[in-house]
Amino acid sequence: LRIVVVGASTAGLKCACRARRLLPAATITVLDARREISLAHGALPAFLAGEFPSLDALRTTSYGRVRDASFFKDVKGVDVRTGVRVDALDLAAHTVTAVCEDDGARETHAYDHLVLATGAASRAPAGIVPGPAVHLGHDPLHLRDLRRALERGAVDRVAVLGGGCVGVSLAGALAETWGVGVTLFEAQDRILPEVLDTELAAVASRALRDLGVEVRTGARVTAATTAASAAAVDVDGEARSFEAAIVALGVMPRVELARAAGLAVGPSGGLIVDQRLQCAPGVWACGDVVEVTQLLTGTPRLAGRSALAARMGRAVADGIAGRPVRVPPMAGSFALRIGETMVATVGITAGAAREAGLAPAVVWGSVADRAVIDPERRYDAVALVSEERTGRLLGLQAVGPGAAVRRAELMATPLRAGARLEDLLDLETCCHPAVGDLFDPLHGLAALALAVRDGGPLPVACETAAPGAVLVDVREASELTGDLPAIPGALNIPLGELATRFAEIPRDRPVVLYCARGPRSFEGICFLQNKGFLNILYLAGGVGLRANR
Ligand SMILES: Cc1cc2nc3c(=O)[nH]c(=O)nc-3n(C[C@H](O)[C@H](O)[C@H](O)COP(=O)(O)OP(=O)(O)OC[C@H]3O[C@@H](n4cnc5c(N)ncnc54)[C@H](O)[C@@H]3O)c2cc1C
Repeated sequence: LRIVVVGASTAGLKCACRARRLLPAATITVLDARREISLAHGALPAFLAGEFPSLDALRTTSYGRVRDASFFKDVKGVDVRTGVRVDALDLAAHTVTAVCEDDGARETHAYDHLVLATGAASRAPAGIVPGPAVHLGHDPLHLRDLRRALERGAVDRVAVLGGGCVGVSLAGALAETWGVGVTLFEAQDRILPEVLDTELAAVASRALRDLGVEVRTGARVTAATTAASAAAVDVDGEARSFEAAIVALGVMPRVELARAAGLAVGPSGGLIVDQRLQCAPGVWACGDVVEVTQLLTGTPRLAGRSALAARMGRAVADGIAGRPVRVPPMAGSFALRIGETMVATVGITAGAAREAGLAPAVVWGSVADRAVIDPERRYDAVALVSEERTGRLLGLQAVGPGAAVRRAELMATPLRAGARLEDLLDLETCCHPAVGDLFDPLHGLAALALAVRDGGPLPVACETAAPGAVLVDVREASELTGDLPAIPGALNIPLGELATRFAEIPRDRPVVLYCARGPRSFEGICFLQNKGFLNILYLAGGVGLRANR
């Protein structure tokens, strides 16, 4: 049995190595145009930040071997050819042809099973021209060139074009380590628009700004070229000059070969595959080149996640070996780092839910990563998205220095299982002061969302959501001078004094109650509702969430 895999990265190599285990007698050949195969791409921002000495460090095993072609030959029994670019597929003849980058020699490989794992490349629309000062954010070699320029001290100002996952990670890494001026341009009204709604995007934006990054949203880049060894960038008609620019405007699956061979490409731009990850008899595809289905909306989208690429690679090997293939729709678990702040999400945003015709309900919180008695506790901003009518869980967004990733991971399984808000109340988590209080914050968020659904107190993400409102700060007076100062103009009535002082609160205007993190204002609002206050809201996540913006 002859298996030819095109692409020696996450998906292709996982497929080849598993196929070797399942089919010991098969001939397995992996072809890749690059020499730097098997890189952990998620560590590229850290590489740019100087945390790894070389690109090889991003492909070194725990026992010190670089995962190059000889490693795959010796240890995995897989033949990997690097510097070999496949330039045509002949599906009728069951062959691929390739050119050797060193000497231009052409070679033909016959297959019984062909695996397309060609990944995705940086999207560079017309006007964006990669060159000595314009680097592609998805290209490890471009990032290596930029790092060398930074090490030489040849770069003072960098433009990051695009505020998606790659742009934000790279901008944070640059600013954190090199002390250079970094300006990030994002066309939409917020950064990370695919994974965060406005409120939490503001928190992530703050983390970037705290590192010194200038964040310009609503800024459309129309051109980026190298001119006189600098990056000339056009933003909304304004010409700007930087020593370097990084292009992070999304990705394009590398489907040219497959398209030329007559294989179908879907609306997202990825290869269409069936449930067994096949696109034609004997032709399989996996990883970033494939179009997947979003679990919650049923819409097609690109995969763009390394763990998913690996799972698909494994599934294709199973399929070739005649085993059942199982690749469920994608829930979209995701994490990135901005300095000390983690951004972690699962599922879809409220915005994406609306686009898909769902009516979302959102509650926010500012939640601790340890018990509140622990002075070392840190707070994360979180947003829980559910379907208004049914309470079905749609997504979780968490941003902060605490346990954002834990929150998203905890949510992933119930969300995949189609759970509802009520199910989160049954979440059985480990209770220890090092990880939290009696109830996990997800429990608290679900209880809040259920209270809202049942007509209870309404949270707002920002005090300006209720124009002309009286702001009432229910914290102790001693708290107002700490790191979370009072909102100017707010009336201070500590929760314990509300029963005796509620008459000070005007009844002819909307009222917004707030505290440090949310729970006290929720209690205060329940009390005031019993006293006949009607137009009354509370600041979700308290002044703690607001201070993060
Ligand atoms: C900066 C950065 C940070 C990221 N961070 C994360 C993260 O934190 N978490 C996460 O889940 N994902 C992250 N990703 C995404 C992740 O890297 C991808 O999802 C993953 O690499 C996809 O693997 P793949 O094997 O499908 O494709 P790729 O890794 O793109 O590999 C495709 C391979 O195919 C080869 N190839 C293409 N065409 C040909 C041809 N014609 N002939 C021969 N060879 C060819 C290419 O040279 C390449 O080596 C990040 C990506 C980048 C760029």
